[in-house]
Amino acid sequence: MYRRLFFAALLACVAVAAGAATQVVAHRGYWDAPGSAQNSIRSLVKADSIACDGSEFDVWMTTDGHLFVNHDATIHGVEIQKAKAADVKKLRLPNGELIPTLEQYLKAGKRLKTHLVLELKPHDDKAQEAKAARKIIAMVKKLGLNKRVTYITFSLPGMKELIKRAPKGTEVYYLNGELSPAELKELGAAGLDYHYSVMRKHPEWYKQSHDLGLKVNVWTVNEESVMRECLEMGADFITTNAPELLQGILKQQ
Ligand code: MG
Repeated sequence: MYRRLFFAALLACVAVAAGAATQVVAHRGYWDAPGSAQNSIRSLVKADSIACDGSEFDVWMTTDGHLFVNHDATIHGVEIQKAKAADVKKLRLPNGELIPTLEQYLKAGKRLKTHLVLELKPHDDKAQEAKAARKIIAMVKKLGLNKRVTYITFSLPGMKELIKRAPKGTEVYYLNGELSPAELKELGAAGLDYHYSVMRKHPEWYKQSHDLGLKVNVWTVNEESVMRECLEMGADFITTNAPELLQGILKQQ
């Protein structure tokens, strides 16, 4: 009798653990909220305030080697990767915040609990991109955040540089969608971080990834039906513009 109860309890624990395994990543922070804006420090603080497991943001480097957090390549007509820091740092986000430097962003993140999901944007000049990867890694290390940061990128050379330069154990994920789990494993990636339409075309990539010890992140999942689909398929992370909707679904499970 007690044995049976013990195993029932054990199974329940396993089920809870399996459900809890999917983590919620706020896409460009939690920006769809009053006073927030994509990639603002406010959006990072808001993602943390609702206990998102992670908060994603995008990083560009200027020609003179300064790192800024912004999604679009261009802000107020200034193309960050072609500009000098002096011309970028005075620009403001839609919520009135100055565009954050990466250092400001990471320092804000250091005071919070949410995991920092840092996207290296693909730069036209691949030498500049590689330098950006190295500068990012050095800054993360300097701030004592090695264990708090995961890297993602659409750039294959950028991913290779991040894998080569980041401390052992750092997770680097690929966004672009064309590489199989086996190819990513070979390159040393922690897993794939693909659009849900890619995963629909390759549903076998969930199991293949898990069998190889890789993790699966799916983006940008904003509709409840797609969230449920990704959860059912076994996504380890779901990146979303609607983190509270996803958290609500996870609570029901
Ligand atoms: Mg991004």
